[in-house]
Amino acid sequence: MASIVPIFVPHAGCPCQCVFCNQRAIAGQSARMTPDRAKEILTQAVSVLPDGCAPQAAFYGGSFTAIPVEEQEALLAVTDVFLSQGKLSAVRLSTRPDAIDEATLERLRRHGVKTIELGAQSMDDEVLRLSQRGHTAADTVHASRLIQQAGFSLVLQTMAGLPGDTRETVRQTAERIAAIQPDGVRIYPVAVLPDTPLYDMWKAGAYVPLDNGTAVIWCADMLEVFEGAHIPVIRMGLNPTEELNGTVQAGAYHPAFGELVWNEWWYRRLYTRLEAQKDGTLYVPARALSRAIGQKRCNLQRLQRQFPDRDIRIQIQRT
Ligand code: SF4
Repeated sequence: MASIVPIFVPHAGCPCQCVFCNQRAIAGQSARMTPDRAKEILTQAVSVLPDGCAPQAAFYGGSFTAIPVEEQEALLAVTDVFLSQGKLSAVRLSTRPDAIDEATLERLRRHGVKTIELGAQSMDDEVLRLSQRGHTAADTVHASRLIQQAGFSLVLQTMAGLPGDTRETVRQTAERIAAIQPDGVRIYPVAVLPDTPLYDMWKAGAYVPLDNGTAVIWCADMLEVFEGAHIPVIRMGLNPTEELNGTVQAGAYHPAFGELVWNEWWYRRLYTRLEAQKDGTLYVPARALSRAIGQKRCNLQRLQRQFPDRDIRIQIQRT
């Protein structure tokens, strides 16, 4: 995939305040995005890339298609110029399921948008209600179909550990998302950010955040579903930034969260294999070796504890 130049439009267009969301903290930026600023960001980004390496511009951090149309058009006019000069390969954006219709998609197509990321978050209507999302799971199914029928790439963003979530609702969300067959998914365990309703709920004892260990298990359940459905998982966990490292108040946040989930996924696979074989030698592809062994050899040690009579070894599979 071409590299991505994010252009953050924090909370732009959002009709409600989802309880968990503080895009200003995530992006480390609070100023409103203007066409001039977008132009500066793109100019700077393309100037440091080698010739012929055209990135994608990505309008992230808000509900792009719910921004007043003239403001969307003004931002897209900037990317139009870079696209026409061959300095961008495509445009992608994130938005809400209830801010998609056929006319909107037609407009986006004219501006070179190729990928639409929908914040689905959960496919459980009660979880969506408690999270004050303002839309239903049916809205996500409907918007996804429109996006797919119009020929865009579809990425669905999901969360684990929202108010009302259980291990079961999270797994069911993954199954219902997989049934939509998006081109990719993102998995975000909930981190409690300051200046959010969720922070207040947590402080009042009305919300119990996931710890990292539980979040890894729930997200590994989701990963199993998506891997089984051959749907690429393009991100797990918030992108660790300097701002975010000191900002997360509670909940699941780890700079290498995605790797921890992959470790768990491999642990489960290898455990199942050991149950089915007699010896302790496990073969994995070279590219998966470090994930299979786990951070600080955690999988090797766990498996050795589970199967104390065998000499557990994880080795590269030769073809
Ligand atoms: S989650 Fe999305 S729709 Fe909700 S407030 Fe954040 S950016 Fe807006």
